[in-house]
Amino acid sequence: MHTVKKVLVVEDELKIARLVRDYLTGAGFAVVEATDGEAALSMARAERPDMILMDLGLPGLDGLDVTRRLRQTSSVPIIMLTARAEETDRVVGLELGADDYITKPFSPKELVARIRAVLRRAENTLGGGDVITARDVTIDIPKMRVTVAGENVELTTSEFELLVTLARHPGRIYTRAQLLELIKGISFESYERSVDAHIKNLRKKIEHDPRRPLYIQTVYGVGYRFGDE
Ligand code: CA
Repeated sequence: MHTVKKVLVVEDELKIARLVRDYLTGAGFAVVEATDGEAALSMARAERPDMILMDLGLPGLDGLDVTRRLRQTSSVPIIMLTARAEETDRVVGLELGADDYITKPFSPKELVARIRAVLRRAENTLGGGDVITARDVTIDIPKMRVTVAGENVELTTSEFELLVTLARHPGRIYTRAQLLELIKGISFESYERSVDAHIKNLRKKIEHDPRRPLYIQTVYGVGYRFGDE
């Protein structure tokens, strides 16, 4: 038996809001709605949704403001709804802690698939285990040991930290700036290019074909994510 998941849809364009509500109720979700940022914050508190679908362009408090405020107290999964032109906002949103984004216009199928993926990941990361397994990669965090198909792989500390960060939240997009922040405490290289260099080395060590990576995937123009499917 599945419990019905509740989605808070934050969207000021009524036509889109209605479409989204129809898609989601059709797919078996419970839907609550807010049409501006203030309402989104109070609905999030009152309704305790399982996830939030957040339009970025809202009157008053915009989607980024709402995401920033929500993240002070809540780790509820957030998917941003963005227009094609909002690439900078998308990156800022991910850095504020949004989990994913969908670009308008989107298909109902894509929307539902993304929501299910984010909900599934949110459930999986709650366990927070010490050993992460994805296909034939195993990461033993306390022992700082990584194996690929049973074979030990030697990683530098920076590579290990990058891999663990990505793999702890499969599918979640990390921007280069976020990953850079992470490795800055470890090494003194402070250019975003150094993230790419570490990723390149990491791929050589764990991917069967580093040019077509299964695990460390590039999100074009944004950053990287760990592939879990
Ligand atoms: Ca809007």
